[in-house]
Amino acid sequence: HADAAMYRAKANGRNRYHFYNHRLDNEQSERVELENALFQALRHEEFELHYQPQIEIQSGRIIGVEALIRWQRPGHGMVSPANFIPLAEENGLITEIGSWVLERACAQLQQWQQQGLDLRVSVNLSAPQLDDANFCDKVARCLKRYRLDPSQLELELTESIIMKHVDQTIQLLEQLDKMGVHLSVDDFGTGYSSLSYLKRFPLNKLKIDQSFVREICVDPDDATICRTIISMADNLNLTVIAEGVEDADQLAMLAEFGCHQYQGYFFSRPVPAEQIPDLFDNTEQPERWNYQI
Ligand code: C2E
Ligand code: MG
Ligand code: MG
Ligand code: MG
Repeated sequence: HADAAMYRAKANGRNRYHFYNHRLDNEQSERVELENALFQALRHEEFELHYQPQIEIQSGRIIGVEALIRWQRPGHGMVSPANFIPLAEENGLITEIGSWVLERACAQLQQWQQQGLDLRVSVNLSAPQLDDANFCDKVARCLKRYRLDPSQLELELTESIIMKHVDQTIQLLEQLDKMGVHLSVDDFGTGYSSLSYLKRFPLNKLKIDQSFVREICVDPDDATICRTIISMADNLNLTVIAEGVEDADQLAMLAEFGCHQYQGYFFSRPVPAEQIPDLFDNTEQPERWNYQI
């Protein structure tokens, strides 16, 4: 493939002064192979989206789902996004993959809506997607094509994306906000931005990173971090969702701190789209999934 070959030439050029080493050589050829496969993947429809429900803690009901990409790589099984998204970000393929994700998620949302499900879909963004001058148009066209209310779409950005080109990003986010699209900060707490700084951006939601939730019940520092994020976000009128909730004790503590929403294996792993309606039916008995203080 021409693009892959070009990339390879560039990568070789960059490594010309590295001394020769078989391990490096192997790593590099594995990388090139992965990259070639990635270039084929879009065309051969090897990607799919799984969806993880997001639950409102007070009611125990599903209010949204996060779209998470999966790659069925022939001969390799399911490849985790952690193993190919960074590469796609480096070689620029993420722009095309990201457009596919947006399109797929919107199409799926329309289908759920036609089945009578009321929910919002969250889509993860990578930095290069925001450099695309047509990004806003792409989003607008997608919403129109599937006749969606813009507020049913949420875009997730990490702190580092938001902080990258501040002035440029503010403008773009303001445009999206004006359209009515919801914006959330993913992996919140792992970057270096303060809440007061983020207040300059038109954000709707903070997602507390799962690294703080994991030991919330055993590490008092993590508990303090979660409690502080929740109360500050609440005062700034931002919705707070906790990621990576795996058990009832974690949920109980988050509820006590006033957290609004959660997602995690406790309720459900990310699942193929066709399993989402059944999960909705489960929440007909919300007592099981909420936590009343
Ligand atoms: P993320 O957006 O922070 O997504 C949360 C990750 O945590 C997901 O991993 C999810 O499966 C996992 N997770 C959810 N609940 C639990 C839990 O209770 N316990 C544990 N241990 N993990 C949980 P996944 O699907 O492997 O995605 C990893 C990352 O890849 C995502 O982190 C996101 O940064 C990126 N990613 C996934 N899909 C896309 C995409 O379509 N576009 C872009 N740009 N990035 C994506
Ligand atoms: Mg996310
Ligand atoms: Mg996250
Ligand atoms: Mg993450």
